[in-house]
Amino acid sequence: MRTLHYPAFEQMEIRDVDDVAPQADEVKIKVAACGICGSELESYKNKSPRRPPPLVMGHEFCGTIAETGANVSDWQVGAKIVSNSLVPCGSCVRCDRGDTHLCESRQIFGMHRPGAFAEFLNVPARCLIPWPENVSAEAASLAEPMANGVHVVHVSRHLNADTVLVMGAGPIGLFCQQAMQVLRGSKVYVADLSNERLEVAKKLGAVRVINPRDEDVVAVMKEATGGEGADLSVDAVGSGITKRTAVDAIRPGGGSVWIGLHEDEMTFNSYGLTLPEKQVFGSYAATIDELQHALNLMSEGKVDAESWVQRFSLEDGVEAFQRMLAAKGNDIKAVVCP
Ligand SMILES: [Zn+2]
Ligand SMILES: [Zn+2]
Repeated sequence: MRTLHYPAFEQMEIRDVDDVAPQADEVKIKVAACGICGSELESYKNKSPRRPPPLVMGHEFCGTIAETGANVSDWQVGAKIVSNSLVPCGSCVRCDRGDTHLCESRQIFGMHRPGAFAEFLNVPARCLIPWPENVSAEAASLAEPMANGVHVVHVSRHLNADTVLVMGAGPIGLFCQQAMQVLRGSKVYVADLSNERLEVAKKLGAVRVINPRDEDVVAVMKEATGGEGADLSVDAVGSGITKRTAVDAIRPGGGSVWIGLHEDEMTFNSYGLTLPEKQVFGSYAATIDELQHALNLMSEGKVDAESWVQRFSLEDGVEAFQRMLAAKGNDIKAVVCP
């Protein structure tokens, strides 16, 4: 079968590999679409040890069941599915708690097991949910990053979210924006260095966009809120400066959710958190219930996962990867369709 193969650091190529039969509890999926995730672009660019080549990446995907393993009885060949991006063990204390996305022995597609930039891959049947007829392949494959936005809403559900600042108008930022708008009815402000990306945020319903090259993000948020600051912020970039700005731009008693992974170490003035009783939350991936929630929102037409997304064939997968790495203009999100 054809794959978009990552054979060594800084290399990407189309390669034929043998596909393998599914295990007893797995199904073989014929992939319809698979999104290129920002974390994969980061891994490639930074030669990350989290994704050591040789590897086939890809964890945001949907497709059709081509074959079922011996013990799979609840799914039939031909069923259209969306998959979770990770395989939790299902039996550890974290899985028991319901935090399946934090399972210590979780396996992520395209990291710990073969990913979906391929014609076929095998997936445990318990990781699947049905792909609704009225959702396109491109959109369905992006239920996973949208579920990250749903998870951000859940992580911060106890906080007021009337006025929200989202740092970063990349795919995760745009999905967090839409999740806040749809699930919390928030007025969302979006900051990004790219005017093209800000145009997309505006089209998706941002009340105001901010380019930090032209305006001070904290000042804009204070001005918009009578000098107080946003109720909630989401940092979908993850650099030191965006994390600091995300905290500085919220009001006393407000919260900030950090989901971006751009940069690990940073300096931070901790009194700015302690004295105004601000709260910071980490957010990582999503549960299968949140994946279902995200897909429902798409099926109900409440989320736009198409107008700003570009489709590439698997044969053009290398170009798709390079274009998203360069991230010029409207190259925001690519979906590879084998
Ligand atoms: Zn991802
Ligand atoms: Zn577990």
